[in-house]
Amino acid sequence: MNKHVFVTREIPDIAIAMLEKSGCQIDIYKGQGIPSQRDLIRSLRAHHYEALLSLLTDKIDASVLDAAPFLGIISNYAVGFDNIDIAEAKRRHIAVTNTPGDYVDVVAEHAVALVFALARRIIEADRYVRMGHYEGWSPMIFMGTEVSGKTIGIVGAGRIGARFARHMYRGFDAKIIYYDVVRNSEIENGCKAEFVPDLDDLLAQADVVSLHVPLMDSTHHLIDARRLSLMKPTAYLVNTSRGPIVDEHALVGVLRAGRIRGAGLDVFEKEPRLAAGLARLPNVVLTPHIASATELSRNHMAAIAAQNIIDFFHGKKLKNCVNL
Ligand code: NAD
Repeated sequence: MNKHVFVTREIPDIAIAMLEKSGCQIDIYKGQGIPSQRDLIRSLRAHHYEALLSLLTDKIDASVLDAAPFLGIISNYAVGFDNIDIAEAKRRHIAVTNTPGDYVDVVAEHAVALVFALARRIIEADRYVRMGHYEGWSPMIFMGTEVSGKTIGIVGAGRIGARFARHMYRGFDAKIIYYDVVRNSEIENGCKAEFVPDLDDLLAQADVVSLHVPLMDSTHHLIDARRLSLMKPTAYLVNTSRGPIVDEHALVGVLRAGRIRGAGLDVFEKEPRLAAGLARLPNVVLTPHIASATELSRNHMAAIAAQNIIDFFHGKKLKNCVNL
């Protein structure tokens, strides 16, 4: 086939093996860390690349696309694709694909893990033991909150939100309430989930608010200062979706003032930077965008990303195309 593919960072071997087997010539970014836009432009100018295998950290806009005039496909190794100027790619007839693989369970599991890390103060307690402060059983240290039977508020009951609902309902007898722009009969029937048509009402009722909406204009700062102020002082906020859905600066304010009990975040508004003061708060659990980071899930995503490119070169209909 002899098509040129540029891969913006090391990814699981399975993808490289698949592309090589199909006859593609592959170049992988050789620099350290995350390539800047300048690095991407310089790399793309080096050859007549016909395919780009990109990651969420690669900001792909018109300036990057100008450096790759022969590009036919951008295969983004992620479910989200908010790092790519989709309209600009469409204008240039460049297909953009994503990797909706076996991530649903693992991301939902990560949201569950954040809930328990917060409620049972796992990170604080671990640090305390490691620091040598533990002097024996005490009736008063690290009092947490039980999760079983609590009201779980899900914002965005799509694939991940619905799976998270099922885990919490089946595993912990939680009462599930949810807000979405469309209703989800699967969780209404399977988890006795109650649809709450007004997000403000959900925030006022939930003991845990878990976010599972995509990042779009309509969801940017969906959880802002006003909405944070509606949450119960005993409630936790969990975000495994996208950072800019929460006004992170406002979140630091309410956490610092103790107006909600805690927050578990896998994603950040200006990733990888954190809002000032966030990392110093004791009532947060922070993970570096690893909700889908299991071997099974990442290998599956890599295989889909490679297959999207192979299908494109074979002129097949693209299953995961998001823009054409
Ligand atoms: P999905 O498309 O299946 O579900 C999204 C849901 O949000 C849908 O039910 C949709 O109707 C709803 N929605 C859209 N706009 C809304 C709005 N304005 N208000 C309320 N609801 C709205 O998506 P998914 O596969 O479940 O993914 C959910 C999120 O998880 C996405 O943001 C995705 O990028 C993110 N994600 C994160 C990781 C990670 O590593 N942290 C991994 C995979 C996915």
